[in-house]
Amino acid sequence: MSFLFATIVLIDNSCTSSKKSTGTNMQFTQNIVVAHRGAWKKNHLPENSIASLQEAIRLGCAGTEFDVHLTADDTLIVNHDPIYAGKKIEESSYTSLAEAKLSNGETIPTARQYLLAGMQQRNTMLVFEIKPSGISKERGQRLAQIVVELVKELKAEPWIIYISFDYAIIKKVLELQPNAKVQYLNGDKSPVELKNDSVIGLDYHFSVFKKHPEWIKEAKENKVVLNAWTVNNGDDMKWLIENKFDFITTNEPELLLELIK
Ligand code: MG
Repeated sequence: MSFLFATIVLIDNSCTSSKKSTGTNMQFTQNIVVAHRGAWKKNHLPENSIASLQEAIRLGCAGTEFDVHLTADDTLIVNHDPIYAGKKIEESSYTSLAEAKLSNGETIPTARQYLLAGMQQRNTMLVFEIKPSGISKERGQRLAQIVVELVKELKAEPWIIYISFDYAIIKKVLELQPNAKVQYLNGDKSPVELKNDSVIGLDYHFSVFKKHPEWIKEAKENKVVLNAWTVNNGDDMKWLIENKFDFITTNEPELLLELIK
């Protein structure tokens, strides 16, 4: 089977004055596999843990996705749901949230810890989902600002693809980091609409592409990156592979890696 692999050559524009990230071109693994919340399922690891991040890297995924919320005291933490251990993240301090351990004994990772762990390697991109604020749109804007400031401070830009369901967050990221690689999640904008806003990709639920097959062609014609979530079934994976998607986001990275061998 032959299909177009995504070619992602990421230029580290941000580091011309820094030696820390070397300022050299970075070329990540060229396959279509994005592990959703890390690679956790097969080995019963907690989702969004450092362990699941490291497993996705070990498997050789092109990308590994994770979800980030902002605590009441402005710490970015990695978790899917807005509630952790029975506490609303946005209304709780980091210290109180960190009391509850993940099932493997890890403390819930901060985004800083997660990025520092991910930056130990140069093969797997870090797909950073900025979760919308449940409190207000304004807090979502501040969240985006804190995220971009952290990424810049750590010089993590070459590793990062930002994703969000909140289009105002997407726009804020691009305002603060105009060359950021950003993909939109919510399934309600055409590839050309995204391209006109400098959004490089669409990362939609795979059913959206069955309703809008014309967006697949439109994305390719306009060089907008095609990503689909969360695809766990081999037949759905095959449909996306046949349609030459750039990325497939999955809870079953081992299965997808096997299919593209
Ligand atoms: Mg997510």
